Amino acid sequence: MAKEELECSFCGRKKPETNLLIAGLDAHICDRCIEQAHGIVIEESKQMDSGDLSAELMLRKPQQIKGFLDEYIIGQEYTKKVMSVAVYNHYKRLLQSPTDDDIEIQKSNIMMVGQTGTGKTLMAKTIAKMLNVPLAIVDATVLTEAGYVGEDVESILTRLLQAADYNLEKAERGIVFIDEIDKIARKSDNPSITRDVSGEGVQQALLKLLEGTVVNVPPKGGRKHPDQKFIEVNTENILFIAGGAFDGIERHISKRLNMSSIGYKASHEGEIIDKDNILQYIIPKDLKDFGLIPEIIGRLPVLTYMNPLDANTLRAILTEPKNAIVKQYKKLFAMDDIELSITDGALDFIVKKAVEYKLGARGLRSLCEEILTDAMFNLPSTNETKLNVTKAYAEGKLTKTRLKKLKAVS
Ligand code: ADP
Repeated sequence: MAKEELECSFCGRKKPETNLLIAGLDAHICDRCIEQAHGIVIEESKQMDSGDLSAELMLRKPQQIKGFLDEYIIGQEYTKKVMSVAVYNHYKRLLQSPTDDDIEIQKSNIMMVGQTGTGKTLMAKTIAKMLNVPLAIVDATVLTEAGYVGEDVESILTRLLQAADYNLEKAERGIVFIDEIDKIARKSDNPSITRDVSGEGVQQALLKLLEGTVVNVPPKGGRKHPDQKFIEVNTENILFIAGGAFDGIERHISKRLNMSSIGYKASHEGEIIDKDNILQYIIPKDLKDFGLIPEIIGRLPVLTYMNPLDANTLRAILTEPKNAIVKQYKKLFAMDDIELSITDGALDFIVKKAVEYKLGARGLRSLCEEILTDAMFNLPSTNETKLNVTKAYAEGKLTKTRLKKLKAVS
């Protein structure tokens, strides 16, 4: 009897009709069926991924969100509270099942006003980390109106897509942090005098994005090009957080406070105004006086401010956050089996220099780097197992020239 011809147990193709026939225990499978099955596996896992997205989005209650922020960000209590509520409401809106009561919850995009280095970016990063959603950080200064040299506002979404590894669904529930939003304020109070390319036009272009719309996004960035395939991104559920230093806005706030204390004296009686932190009194009108158009302000309805960092806060930033700078250096040294300790005196000295040279929180890192570079260079090649950084040690490393150099780059 002729030997039975082998065939694929899935499609029935005879062995000669296949490129490859793989044998199992009681069955065979051909290359074509393997490829087809592989395609099905990929499709299925994609569907599972998207089904899991909602479960993946770990929505905690506002107090828990604030608790998470507390682990990474020192102080800024007001902003942490406001952000926790805004983020909670934003994602609650996203997870809600459709109802027929016609009540549509609006987006709670956020505007953060505060000097540079006070933790605005850190705030956005920490929220994104907590929610496990992609984050794009963009600088408003590079944006221009379509047709001018610079980046179209759609490039913001290209960045978000990239941050989401081109997973559209993830991108559509991500966070965009637009830094330096104050730099696109209208320069003049009278909009009709000049054509303000970098300012008002960009604000106009941003409006739709902030509100929620479907945007054709060039996946690789760059200018829109007729031949380039676009990805349609719906910004409806993207949380936008804008931040800016708004240098000089204090003048607008003070002016308004004085005026209203004349106008509504009774309501202000007894209220002491903290002149060292005028930002805390900010209201949307001040942003308008600064040069943002009312429509932009309206689409960033949650307005909050960052406190300037005092010496105590800087001191805490050095050691307390989960990701504190000192903890990071300890870890780096530990990888070479060296135990790093820094005395309180040395830490106070670092803070003193940061304040004296107005280096802010960002400067803390540069100061530590200056102090520790020699040790990080030399110690790994020795048998040392300990490094104790005292005030005297730190002083020795931070010469005046080095400090001036740090000031110049900050
Ligand atoms: P901004 O965006 O306001 O310019 P960043 O968020 O970039 O400021 O802050 C700069 C650095 O300073 C951050 O990397 C962070 O380490 C540190 N920092 C600033 N403010 C805080 C804070 N309140 N708590 C902890 N770290 C902070």
